[in-house]
Formats: sequence, C-alpha cells, structure tokens
Amino acid sequence: MRLRNITGSRENIAESQYVVHEPAQMKGNWKALFENDHPIHIEIGMGKGQFIHGMAKAHPEINYVGIEKYSSVLLRAIQKMEVEELPNLCFIRMDAEEITDVFAEGEVDQIYLNFSDPWPKDRHAKRRLPSRQFLARYDQILKKDGKLEFKTDNRGLFDFAVEELEPAGWRADVITYDLHSDAELMVGNIMTEYEEKFSSQGNPIYKYIICR
Ligand code: SAM
Repeated sequence: MRLRNITGSRENIAESQYVVHEPAQMKGNWKALFENDHPIHIEIGMGKGQFIHGMAKAHPEINYVGIEKYSSVLLRAIQKMEVEELPNLCFIRMDAEEITDVFAEGEVDQIYLNFSDPWPKDRHAKRRLPSRQFLARYDQILKKDGKLEFKTDNRGLFDFAVEELEPAGWRADVITYDLHSDAELMVGNIMTEYEEKFSSQGNPIYKYIICR
C-alpha cells in the first residue's frame, strides 16, 4: 500500500472514540468493551477498513476489531465510522507482532487477513502475516475451533501461505484459486479495497479458510 503522511492523522487517532488506545489493558476483557457476549472477529492489516466496516454492518451479532499499523490508513477507517457509526466495531493501531499482548488465549473467534503485504524478499518472510511465525501467534489467541480466512491476488504469497500450513500445525478447510467464480464461497463475500481494485483488473482472487 502506498502510504502518504496525512497531516494530523496521529492527533485525530489519539482523539478518536473508535480507537482502543491502550489495547493491552483489554486483554481477556474485550467482551466487556462491547458490553455483550457476542463472538469477536478481528481483521489484521485492515487498511482503510472497507471490509471490516461492511462485515460489522452485515453482522450486528458479531463484534469486530480492526487492526492496522499505520495512522494514515487507519484514519480512513475512522472516517467511515464518522459517516456511519457501528456499535460492534472498533480499531487498534498496532503492529500485529504484538497481538498476543492484546488478546488472551482463545479470546478471538475468527481472524481475517486480506491482501496482506507480500514482503517478497526471503529474509523478510517472517513479516508476512500468513507466515508460520504469525500462525503461531494466531494459534494462541484463536479459540480451539476458530477459523482464519485469507484472501489475496498475489499467487506467490498465496503459495507461500499454503506451504506454511503443515509445518505450523494448521490445515485447510477450503482453498480456491478463483474465489469470484465460486458461487457458494461468494455468498456474503465483502470486497476489500484491494479486492475491488485487482479483481476489476481481471486478477483471480485466491482464498483459504484454515483451522488447526
Ligand atoms: N486489507 C486491506 C485490503 O485488502 O484492501 C489492505 C491491504 S494492504 C496491502 C495491507 C495492510 O496491512 C496495510 O494497510 C498495512 O499497513 C497493514 N499491515 C501490514 N503489516 C501489518 C502488521 N504487522 N500489523 C498491522 N498492520 C499491518
């Protein structure tokens, strides 16, 4: 994602009621934040938030937490909430490397990764969000029968993600190399910003749904 330094984005985020500012303090207690007992789904690397905002709107019975590393991008997700506030959605600005400091064991019911950065150099493989290092972190916070869904148009990253499953102790429930041609999997599919852009250019979208 091309990042522009948007003036004042850090200040806007610091003041936003939609951002959880001390997320580590919520560890083990996220249901109290939402004041209900609904399941918690998180998207890691949510970008401008189109997917998670759409999901939260479509599923008021689920609580959503969107995680994004960069203020300038998170700001766009906050702006969507200012236009259409949803009680079951909040955001965290953080590096997902610290995700186990923020969610307790088994506290998360579902994880979404969408169009994660590919980090093409081999020496950066452990920064890729579907890498075995990240799968080990997700293993700690995701409940036992929880699922992780990953979409991308990057074939190299997708092949890497599939190869990481076995060594990391995960298995695929579903793998498709052309999501948009699969009527069953497209039921309820909410497009991310990147998905809209790359599928409109004719790129196939790859997706897996995995569990342990
Ligand atoms: N998910 C969105 C979509 O599909 O349109 C955005 C995709 S963009 C290519 C990847 C996003 O993941 C960027 O906004 C980036 O800042 C974020 N990201 C990458 N690594 C991250 C990390 N370790 N922790 C949190 N966010 C991360």
